[in-house]
Amino acid sequence: MAYSKMNDKMKVYKAHLLFTREPNRFEVMENGYIAVEDGRVKGVASSLAQLGCEGCPVVDFGDRLLIPAMNDMHVHAPQYRNLGLALDLELLPWLDNYTFPEESKFADTRYAERMYRRFVRDLWRQGTMRSVCFATTHLESTRLLMHLFQEAGMGAMVGKVNMNRNCPDALCETLEEAERGCEALVREFGDREGLVRPIVTPRFVPSCTSDMLRLCGDLARRYALPVQSHLSENKGEIEWVRELEPDSRSYGDAYNRYGLFGQMPTIMAHCVWTEGEELALMQRNGVMVAHCPTSNLNISSGMAPVRTFLEHGIRVGLGSDISGGHHLSIFRMMVYAIQVSKMHYQRNHAKPFLTLSEAFWIATKSAGSFFGRVGSFEPGYEFDALVIDDAELNHDHYALTERLERFIYIGDDRHIIHRFCRGREVEESKVSLENEKKRE
Ligand SMILES: [Zn+2]
Repeated sequence: MAYSKMNDKMKVYKAHLLFTREPNRFEVMENGYIAVEDGRVKGVASSLAQLGCEGCPVVDFGDRLLIPAMNDMHVHAPQYRNLGLALDLELLPWLDNYTFPEESKFADTRYAERMYRRFVRDLWRQGTMRSVCFATTHLESTRLLMHLFQEAGMGAMVGKVNMNRNCPDALCETLEEAERGCEALVREFGDREGLVRPIVTPRFVPSCTSDMLRLCGDLARRYALPVQSHLSENKGEIEWVRELEPDSRSYGDAYNRYGLFGQMPTIMAHCVWTEGEELALMQRNGVMVAHCPTSNLNISSGMAPVRTFLEHGIRVGLGSDISGGHHLSIFRMMVYAIQVSKMHYQRNHAKPFLTLSEAFWIATKSAGSFFGRVGSFEPGYEFDALVIDDAELNHDHYALTERLERFIYIGDDRHIIHRFCRGREVEESKVSLENEKKRE
């Protein structure tokens, strides 16, 4: 039966289930059943009887793979137009020449709507059902992005960016504007169970004065908000932070002093050059890493030591980091993360490279932990899932894990045929660019 007709409470899907409970292996259930109730996984089993769902209507996806949906843990929504462009500079000149001029355009909400609709649709296409986004300093276009996620039924933590130094006037804000902006978003999107939530977002230390960093830490604590920013991406940047915050023991400590380093749930992008005291501080404070391998390669930042993070029990997720990164697919990020880890391995055989199951676990269960219970098919997890039709890739009867590996390496969005977020299917009509015209 068509699953849209079934009652909202309990749904049962049948497919080949693949997910990771632990980093070192896939859970695989051929022709398995998964029961979903109130948006959460109730259980998985190889028969309806084992699931306690005898007689339940079943949506049968046949010979398709059902896997947890993707989470993009670091992405700049307003840089979407710059995708695949301007990757000939390192971080600091790249910001000045390409990124800040584009972000300045988001003062215009009509421009923002055009760009953000394309961004949300393409996240959907790539099977990314949750993201941790940077917007710009502009409150109205940030609200608009949050509404687009809400309308789509896709999860997101969205940051109205805070910055007040070393940036063009058009992107510079006062402390009062920063505080009012944050409070407006908390009023509108303050539901802690909401799919779309604000996240405190000082751009990075060089673009925030001490007063701004202090305010960001206060806002995070006052409204119990998560925090995101950038950390130790590039050597020039790290040197600059040392000059700007001379009393700090490390770049990470410059956030920590202002309550922006794990006092509330915190995710830091890159951490390419994190080591020593900064690494220990991340471990102690439970700060999570958004590993963005394509961005790190494109703007010559370096190779983040993911194996070292895992050895220290530091949580890691993957980020596309558009537009330092050039592709939105988190499946591609898994491949790049594995390749980068192989470069580390070449230099030091004591650091084993990432396996496929580790990369998958990082992208799903580990990343998803930033949103709550997301990224696995274990009981109680929110049902965020993708149905993969790999028929055209599966021409020689591969094993299920081999089919998943081949999809990750050589498949693309055309092979993703259904997408679910928190138990609901996110249909294409929710992200159609036609909706833009309806609004006009
Ligand atoms: Zn970034």
